[in-house]
Amino acid sequence: MMDILKELVEIAGERVSASPSERYCYRGDASQVFGHPEFVIRPESTNQVSRILRLCNENLVPVTARGAGTGLSGGCSPVKGGVVLDTSGMNRIVEIDIENQQVIVEPGVIAEDLNLHLHPYGFFFPPDPGSMAMCTIGGMIANNSSGMRCVKYGTVREYILDLEVALADGRVIHTGKKVLKSSAGYDLTRLFVGSEGTLGIITKAALKLAPLPKTRKLILSFFEQADIASQAVIKVFSEGITPSACEILDKTTLSVLKLCDSHLAIDEEGDMILFEVDGTETSTDEAARQIVEICKPLALSSRIVSGSEMKGIWAARRLVGASISRLDPQKTRVYMGEDVGVPLKEMPTLIRRVQQIAGKLNIPAMKYGHIGDGNLHVALFIDVSDELEWEKLRYAADKIHRAALDLGGTVSSEHGIGLARAKYLPEQLGADAFSVMHSIKIALDPKGILNPGKMGFD
Ligand SMILES: Cc1cc2nc3c(=O)[nH]c(=O)nc-3n(C[C@H](O)[C@H](O)[C@H](O)COP(=O)(O)OP(=O)(O)OC[C@H]3O[C@@H](n4cnc5c(N)ncnc54)[C@H](O)[C@@H]3O)c2cc1C
Repeated sequence: MMDILKELVEIAGERVSASPSERYCYRGDASQVFGHPEFVIRPESTNQVSRILRLCNENLVPVTARGAGTGLSGGCSPVKGGVVLDTSGMNRIVEIDIENQQVIVEPGVIAEDLNLHLHPYGFFFPPDPGSMAMCTIGGMIANNSSGMRCVKYGTVREYILDLEVALADGRVIHTGKKVLKSSAGYDLTRLFVGSEGTLGIITKAALKLAPLPKTRKLILSFFEQADIASQAVIKVFSEGITPSACEILDKTTLSVLKLCDSHLAIDEEGDMILFEVDGTETSTDEAARQIVEICKPLALSSRIVSGSEMKGIWAARRLVGASISRLDPQKTRVYMGEDVGVPLKEMPTLIRRVQQIAGKLNIPAMKYGHIGDGNLHVALFIDVSDELEWEKLRYAADKIHRAALDLGGTVSSEHGIGLARAKYLPEQLGADAFSVMHSIKIALDPKGILNPGKMGFD
């Protein structure tokens, strides 16, 4: 392996590192999956990425792409060693083309930075994961990330018009055009969206933009039980209303939310649904009033919030998933079984099953997430020095994944498969569909150098 170091340095100079401390820093993401890279490389251009891939392909060296390392499934963890290719240095906004409502970016651009640049033009890139202040556009595309507002605006895949991708053998292709519609051949763009660095390295992306809404309002509705809250969500959608966000925060999550911001005046009891509506002043007023009416028969109470109170609630909501140990400093949140999704109708059942699983094992579980998308985040938290607690947690996470599959759902709505959920993929897709995926992998990466060990591929 050390044989190629000289050639890597010829391509990327000082941006190649074999230092033990740097390699240690690149061993994983925010999940429990770790590897041991031999080299870390921070390329600055498509040309460098292409040359690195050609060299690694010729020498059978694994290459694992990395954005900001905020993933929750071990996607950027180099579990078979080799090279970690850190794209965070490729962070230029290449072109803002407002007339065509699109922007071209390099993969290392941070999602929130992009939106700050777009704000003066009155446009935004809607997918907004809780990690948007840290995560890269490349990582978001590779995971098909979503977030709070995808219930109305859709996930990353709805916003990609064209990708520049460096393939395993170093060839560079474009998957689309700068047009809003195209009906020309296989949809290669969507093939790479969600491919988690297993098919190619994204080196540029043309993204579609949306106009910023004139106004936003929140409706906070409180319910005796989380499963009753989810019934109210189903009623709102059945009435033809599409909120711009629809989040569940159960009682435990609400207490953490208040710890995140002690100024938040949420004194109501119960499990909360946070609906957001956006649009014009008149349309948001009307939608907010309708949501309050629809929730009335099921809710303990509802109220409409705007202005600085709304901003404070959103800021705390973004922190809540990572802040749970404020409830008990002896315990740490472990991201396992945290991202299941089911058809909306099955959400009340999923919530009850999760409660039963955690209750039986006596593991505290906070339930929150993008309920409008049918996506429930379960935050299990344990004393990580206690092996028995680990065993219970792994068992609970497995049961939660299986509950989602049993209800016709998915083991990951947005965080991806990586290694953490790889064993469930053949079961979720079915053996034949999984083998089609495998054939695609072999066609594009016959030597298996791209992110090996992930998604069930060696
Ligand atoms: C506190 C917190 C909150 C979160 N909230 C959300 C949320 O609300 N919604 C959501 O969807 N996710 C969420 N996530 C998960 C995570 O932030 C997202 O999946 C994010 O898109 C990952 O981006 P990243 O730049 O950190 O990618 P990384 O973790 O570095 O990599 C993710 C995957 O993308 C691949 N990859 C990265 N760059 C490229 C590239 N240029 N070409 C090809 N493959 C590449 C990697 O190999 C890996 O498989 C959250 C994470 C945290 C820690």
